[in-house]
Amino acid sequence: MTKTIQLDTIDRTGLSELMAYPRRKMRDNMDVRFCKHAVFYNPVDEECTYCHQDMECKWLNHNDELISLDDKTDDDIRRELTKAMDYVEAQLTAAHLNRRACTCDNCSWLAKVRSLLEISS
Ligand SMILES: [Zn+2]
Repeated sequence: MTKTIQLDTIDRTGLSELMAYPRRKMRDNMDVRFCKHAVFYNPVDEECTYCHQDMECKWLNHNDELISLDDKTDDDIRRELTKAMDYVEAQLTAAHLNRRACTCDNCSWLAKVRSLLEISS
């Protein structure tokens, strides 16, 4: 990297809606039957450390709708949205990735986040 990119402040308009999509998706997809903590990540429990759902679980615990976005820095938001993007991207099937300009919910969300974070796809 030779040049430093000065990122603009994140536009927070519609941000809570953007965060709501992966939150809903993770909650829907998570299997909570075997979680003894009712999806409250417990950093001192080994079962949480080795749980296959630890990414979703940690994300949800950091991005509950009760946690105000105003308390998060732009870096926090960038990091949480990037994690959520990885999650949503992992849901896309191979056939689906070949479609150009797909307008499904996942792809529309990804496009919005990419433009917000100024990531070129
Ligand atoms: Zn799509």
